[in-house]
Amino acid sequence: MLRLLVSLYIVVFASIIAINLGSETIWRNWVEQAPDDLRHATAVAKQYKQALNYIKEDEFASFLTAQPQLTVFPYEDVAWLPEQLTALRQGEIITSFDDTGNAQLLFMANNGTSVVQLGPFAPAKSARVKQYTIKFLSYSVLALLLVIWLRPLWIDLVQLKRTSEKLASGSLDLTTTRSRFSAIYTLTQQIESMALKTASLMSNQKQLVNAVSHELRTPLARLKFALAMLAPKAPEQVAAMEEDVIEMEVLIDEMLSYARLEFANQQLHMQQCDLAPLILDQLDKLARTTNKQLITSIANELPVHCDPHQLTRVIQNLLQNADKYGQSTIRITLSKQQNMAVFSVEDDGSGIPESKREQVFQPFSRLDKSRNKETGGFGLGLAIVSKILSWHSTSCLIDDSELGGARFTLRLPLVP
Ligand code: ADP
Repeated sequence: MLRLLVSLYIVVFASIIAINLGSETIWRNWVEQAPDDLRHATAVAKQYKQALNYIKEDEFASFLTAQPQLTVFPYEDVAWLPEQLTALRQGEIITSFDDTGNAQLLFMANNGTSVVQLGPFAPAKSARVKQYTIKFLSYSVLALLLVIWLRPLWIDLVQLKRTSEKLASGSLDLTTTRSRFSAIYTLTQQIESMALKTASLMSNQKQLVNAVSHELRTPLARLKFALAMLAPKAPEQVAAMEEDVIEMEVLIDEMLSYARLEFANQQLHMQQCDLAPLILDQLDKLARTTNKQLITSIANELPVHCDPHQLTRVIQNLLQNADKYGQSTIRITLSKQQNMAVFSVEDDGSGIPESKREQVFQPFSRLDKSRNKETGGFGLGLAIVSKILSWHSTSCLIDDSELGGARFTLRLPLVP
């Protein structure tokens, strides 16, 4: 950062010096070569100066009144540049330009305390053009130096953007080479070391999940076997214990499938597909198992860009939840709204309070802490939905359904 600041300071400093020196030189050699009318005015100023030499002090005031183009003021009134003061004191006629580019001719009156001014004269048109040209050149010099300074930084930032895009898409292979002289070298180094740490954390997590699930599955299988042997002696207790074992197996499966999702976005198979068949397929499966009334309105031919396998899991999870938490009716709608395909699942359950609508997408988050066999998930279904939808650059919105329960809506852009 310090390097960046110092280099910016040097560039700005060098630009200001270049502009000052350059414009002064151009002004002297180009603009101050007095245009013809200014030369003529200088000749007039010389005559006035000579005339004033012959005028007595008491006639001075009346002479000036008769010459409205002359102005007299005490020379202390102006903060002169040293070279202007020297020239005035040596009896020279000097030219000065005000902010608007008007020229004045100035010389010292014979009493040595006042300065006489002839003018102002509007600058010749060509002088104004020259003035604008100088301004234009100054800004161009500044822009050029800034571009020279910005170019390497720009290239670095573009590379950094690519790196962060790679990171965001889940790729941790950062094989970019960067010069040590890059202004953001430290920043890139830190991002790369962060990515390496993330990569090692993720691989540790993968190993841990695999190891834990394997280590847990083996004793669970042994437990199931032992329970089967015990069943004839205490059938009721064994049945209850078997249920617990099955529950643990489901938990392990869900945890594994959630953990595997972390790595799945690197293998997304995005393609153009019609949403209706995906939904109808899952509706068929639900119709076979549910006792709820299904109200459907599915529009055909709504092609979207998605991974059909992952999107099927989203549809499945939303339908299963509606089935679990609804009372008697589930409404499923697929429609076209402008250039979007809109899919919604609603039920007549107890709904989700507004304050909990973000929380339910967190892993292991359940509103009803007392899990029972009917609704007994582990709070991973909506976390999976949210993750898959984030890979599709969209999200799921929860609001109240007209049926009385919750409504889950997701939108995907239609392929034109
Ligand atoms: P679970 O396996 O517990 O269903 P989910 O991640 O699918 O986990 O849902 C998280 C929580 O959100 C659920 O425990 C439930 O409290 C709430 N929820 C999800 N869907 C609905 C719904 N349709 N109606 C009411 N509550 C719901």
